[in-house]
Amino acid sequence: MSQPSQHSPAPHIAATKSGAESSFQSGSESSLRQEASHFAAAAEKPASPPTPPPSPATTSNLNTLNDRYSRQILFPGIGAHGQHLLASAHVAIVGCGATGAAAASLLARAGVGTLTLIDRDFVEPSNLQRQVLFDEADARESLPKAEAARRKIALFNSTVAVHSHIADLVPANIHDLLAPAHLILDATDNFETRYLINDYAVQQSKPWIYAAAIGAYAATMTILPRPSGEKNHLPEPTEKMCHPERSAEREVEGPAVASAYAATNPTPCLACIFPKPPSGPVETCDTSGILSTAVNLAASLQATEALKLLTGQPHLLRRSLLSFDLWTSEHSEISASKPNPDCTVCGQRLFTHLAGEGRPHITLCGRNSVQIHEHSRPVDFAAMRDRLAPHGQVRFNDLLLRFERPPHTITLFPDGRALIQGTTDITLARSLYARFIGS
Ligand SMILES: [Zn+2]
Repeated sequence: MSQPSQHSPAPHIAATKSGAESSFQSGSESSLRQEASHFAAAAEKPASPPTPPPSPATTSNLNTLNDRYSRQILFPGIGAHGQHLLASAHVAIVGCGATGAAAASLLARAGVGTLTLIDRDFVEPSNLQRQVLFDEADARESLPKAEAARRKIALFNSTVAVHSHIADLVPANIHDLLAPAHLILDATDNFETRYLINDYAVQQSKPWIYAAAIGAYAATMTILPRPSGEKNHLPEPTEKMCHPERSAEREVEGPAVASAYAATNPTPCLACIFPKPPSGPVETCDTSGILSTAVNLAASLQATEALKLLTGQPHLLRRSLLSFDLWTSEHSEISASKPNPDCTVCGQRLFTHLAGEGRPHITLCGRNSVQIHEHSRPVDFAAMRDRLAPHGQVRFNDLLLRFERPPHTITLFPDGRALIQGTTDITLARSLYARFIGS
């Protein structure tokens, strides 16, 4: 089996700024007012009218499910109907490292009916500090993360259908992997994949939620592409999950979820906020470390947004890029209310990443090595040496930097090109590059 590699959580997408400079305070107050009004309205609703008893088979099913989700159904924002909608929902999670495992656990426990998990890496011992779906046996066996996660979810919620894909998300497979999902969660460790997701989501009018964690820092943004008149990507209650007595209601309430989204103004896409991926070396959790708490904050924010969307409440979604440093308590909330009309992706609909134009060229290079032509970016060898020194042996001159971490050696050139020696596995080579050099 290939040497396992780390699929780390995402790097920074934006620097935090102090709370005093941000709109966080006012945003919170606004949200609280909105929540108060929502819950007041919910409290005023009359109790459900008496209904005929359901059939015995349905009673058993509902009793089990109602017991499992009873505390969540009690929460006014979800309720019984929200729970039915969640059972009909399909969420794809791209990346099953720390953020992805936490989000998958949260959504599976919440009763999201179908999950697609996509990941290219294997479990290793250094994952266990923060990747909540994996254990020591998974690490000993170097189980692929997507499969390890599927098995673990089956142990605590066997009613959730989990499709695990041990794959790198690329233009060639993105449609097959993501088309069935109502919503995409970003739990990747690289911008290359995020911009690919963004292209796909905008093209297909499919909502997605960006999330990142590094060090003690977490960031997230919900992205709602302009709805398409012909596409209906949001879930409707399925027959098996509906109370029989609510079947008439379903006719009204099911399509209301999609129409609620259709009536929602689009948000900026990732490229509206950051037209280009960051230049220069990017921090990763393999070089900068990470707190498990930061990962879980990012995943909790992301999963809660998912619950709002999937229960037909897009008006409750946060329309901002929110970031929080748990160690310093610095936070910021950058408004993300309207798309940039000049955006090349959602404005001009140029999907270069989806067309594969943003992909690095990767070639097998000689015996037992892979060459990666990363997009051109100058590398500061002295800074890179300082980052890599704790993780292996580093030497450099003006022409190249060599980083030895047996059984692999990375030879890095000033323009960012690298030779990964010790493997012919392109996926592993890409992972090592993303892990130590940055994506
Ligand atoms: Zn845009």
